[in-house]
Amino acid sequence: MDNPSVRGLMGINFYAGVPLHSNDGYRVGTFCILDGVTRQLSPEDIAALEDLAACAESEIQLLHISRSEIEMRGEMDQLRRKASIDVLTKTWNRGAILEILAKEQERAKKANEPLAVALMDIDHFKSVNDTYGHDVGDQVLQEFTDRIRSSLRGGEAFGRFGGEEFLIVIPRCHPSQSAVYSENVLQAVRSQPMKTAKGELAVTASMGVAIWRGSFEDSDALIKRADKALYQSKRNGRDRASMAV
Ligand code: GH3
Ligand code: MG
Ligand code: MG
Repeated sequence: MDNPSVRGLMGINFYAGVPLHSNDGYRVGTFCILDGVTRQLSPEDIAALEDLAACAESEIQLLHISRSEIEMRGEMDQLRRKASIDVLTKTWNRGAILEILAKEQERAKKANEPLAVALMDIDHFKSVNDTYGHDVGDQVLQEFTDRIRSSLRGGEAFGRFGGEEFLIVIPRCHPSQSAVYSENVLQAVRSQPMKTAKGELAVTASMGVAIWRGSFEDSDALIKRADKALYQSKRNGRDRASMAV
């Protein structure tokens, strides 16, 4: 009330602040907001203010760590990213896509939402390699992944599960939509021949789709069902999708 900023020209009528600490725990200042009019903060406002204060505090604390520590943090982030990405196709690698699947299962459980996986395998891929060479095979893998990527509706995660086998994690996938969904993805592969150094190649893929049964089914069992369905698609003539039972 007696503060010159309140009484004087500034005419402050509202103040909220969060103390900021240095690395060694000293209060070195506050992150605060001021206004000339009286205000009330909701719990959400306070949480937002505390979030911003935490950002400011970590900036201040970062000043105390050395340049090389900062660089090392950046390098570690980069290494972790690198370790998660498949070099050839620039999709998630097996370890990363399995980690994402586990996270999506947690999320789907909490939100009580459906979750599906689609396991895909390029048809007769060995003969592409045998006929046109390994480099052309690599080109097909790249074009294949580009097409899958652009056929995704958003929200899915897509990774290389093995050689020419890929896994799509599909959140909020209702069983009734899955047939349309999978046909859309397969159509993106077959729609037009793939351009390679040895000319254009017609490529197709097969798919097995499994809807997660919920918390009592672990990711191994879920993928195993998708794999069985994929095998069914292969047996029935390839270039198709099957639903897991
Ligand atoms: P199917 O329709 O039953 O799936 O037959 P397929 O020939 O596709 O299956 P198979 O498992 O016999 O062959 C897969 C081939 O994929 C064999 C392997 O050499 C090739 N492959 C795996 N990884 C790569 C890669 O990174 N680059 C290239 N060019 N080929 C790869
Ligand atoms: Mg194959
Ligand atoms: Mg295969």
